[in-house]
Amino acid sequence: MPTADGAAHADVPNDLNAFWLPFTPNRAFKKRPRLISRSKDMHYYTPEGRPILDATAALWCCNAGHNRDSIVKAIQRQAAELDFAPNFQFAHPLAFQLSSRIADLAPGDLDHVFFCNSGSEACDSALKIALAYHNVRGNGSRIRLVGRERGYHGTGFGGISVGGMPNNRRFFGSLLAGVDHLPSTYNREHQAFTKGEPEWGGHLADALEGIVGLHDASTIAAVIVEPMAGSTGVLPAPKGYLQRLREICTKYGILLIFDEVITGFGRLGFAFAAERYGVVPDMITFAKGVTSGTVPMGGVIVRKPVYDAFMQGPEHAIELFHGYTYSGHPLACAAALATLDVYRDENQFERVKGLEPKWCDAIMSLRGLPNVLDIRCVGLTGAVDLAPNADGPGERGYKVLEHSFHEAGIMLRMSGDTIELTPPFIISEAQIGEIMDKTAESIKAAA
Ligand code: PLP
Repeated sequence: MPTADGAAHADVPNDLNAFWLPFTPNRAFKKRPRLISRSKDMHYYTPEGRPILDATAALWCCNAGHNRDSIVKAIQRQAAELDFAPNFQFAHPLAFQLSSRIADLAPGDLDHVFFCNSGSEACDSALKIALAYHNVRGNGSRIRLVGRERGYHGTGFGGISVGGMPNNRRFFGSLLAGVDHLPSTYNREHQAFTKGEPEWGGHLADALEGIVGLHDASTIAAVIVEPMAGSTGVLPAPKGYLQRLREICTKYGILLIFDEVITGFGRLGFAFAAERYGVVPDMITFAKGVTSGTVPMGGVIVRKPVYDAFMQGPEHAIELFHGYTYSGHPLACAAALATLDVYRDENQFERVKGLEPKWCDAIMSLRGLPNVLDIRCVGLTGAVDLAPNADGPGERGYKVLEHSFHEAGIMLRMSGDTIELTPPFIISEAQIGEIMDKTAESIKAAA
């Protein structure tokens, strides 16, 4: 059994047996582990000190770059000042400060922030707020939720129910009742090798009219979509699609939730994708980039009328029976405030906007390599679909992953046979070139 030796601490476990890794083929991993023990700026380092270029901002979260001094110091300071304080019936000042900063970045009257600890909790919280919102307004019949095929909203029961990734759903029983799905916005025949938002597909939002026709609007609480579906391989919204969804939701009194766990905090060149598309949803979920991945945090930003609907009844009574022990944890708040400062002081969202055309040109240069079926990009994200090999879906992808880490010295993210590239915002143009060279090398090695 390989060991996790080589890390700095003597108390590192001496074999790899006990840890059950999430979303990982554990047996293959433990035969040939990919261990990381340190990071700085654009790089990870293995326990032996080998640099690994981070082409994925970890899991689309370390947007500001790794171990940024000001964020590290803010976390250290906060740990020494206030380890933890509850936000049930008490509160600490940083949670208020951070809420104001986030509300300020969000478009329109998205003015109120509910904190949790992850993207999954954010999605489940948003769905619960939607159901409760209709309830407190006397519309308790609005109990249906609408997601989308190929959507990813985390791994809670709410998230997998509205999500549209078959493997995340099929092992877990009956899921939530009363859920429908819009069709995926992806169609290779019409969209292959498009840079940015495809021309084809805006009309797919009209499927919501069909769902309304089937069940009646009076039974539908909310629609949740990612403005760019990330985990199923970077599927940017077709032109006009999100605007159309907004129109239909408004027409029928259905709440529109944008899941911006990936797209929030700059990934598409704006604080939120909602701004890029000029659409104000009723709620935005966020996580990941809010702390640049340093401390777990998630949340839901809610429009004023939604929040106001709850602020009724006796003042001593709790308005929403929902929350998590660590909602708005002081370390997470400190990390988030320092992260937002870095984004602002270094103009990082603007930087993403400026890099997007070069990034898209660079990733499209992989067209023509063996097995490449399609390439997509938007903001500082991109994906390359590879043809599966004869051993079944995901086998070629795993080969790419192994080669890229062990031989090429780069962290890629694989979703089956799709390579996802989503680097930190501090990436240089030379490093964009390096990512593409190393990705090309890994694609060829797995041909
Ligand atoms: N929603 C979206 C759009 C995501 O991409 C993710 C994670 O990748 C989640 C929710 C779940 O986030 P977490 O893994 O923090 O629970």
